[in-house]
Amino acid sequence: MPYKNQSKRNRKVSKRRRNKYNSLDLYVVRLDLQDSMTCAKPCMYCSNTMKSLGVKRVFYSDWGGEIRMEYVSEMKTGHLSVFQEDLIKKYPYLPVNAIKTIRV
Ligand SMILES: [Zn+2]
Repeated sequence: MPYKNQSKRNRKVSKRRRNKYNSLDLYVVRLDLQDSMTCAKPCMYCSNTMKSLGVKRVFYSDWGGEIRMEYVSEMKTGHLSVFQEDLIKKYPYLPVNAIKTIRV
């Protein structure tokens, strides 16, 4: 289970390292082929990494091209990118760690 491994890894992140990012905001947008902003919501792996680093807020473009803000500490971490979901559908036998290494 990715959650189990991730929480184990999160505990290893030192408090000093976490404090380094605790006032940091992250901005992420993605452009489609027409150069319009589209969904750039961080996936569960990126969310967990941001949480472990103590990133405060993330701003990202949604499917409608609007910018959304979430406090990283309150983010639900089940989101996968369309690419990651397609990968899981296409190759259901792939181990979770293989999906995890392909961060989109
Ligand atoms: Zn990601």
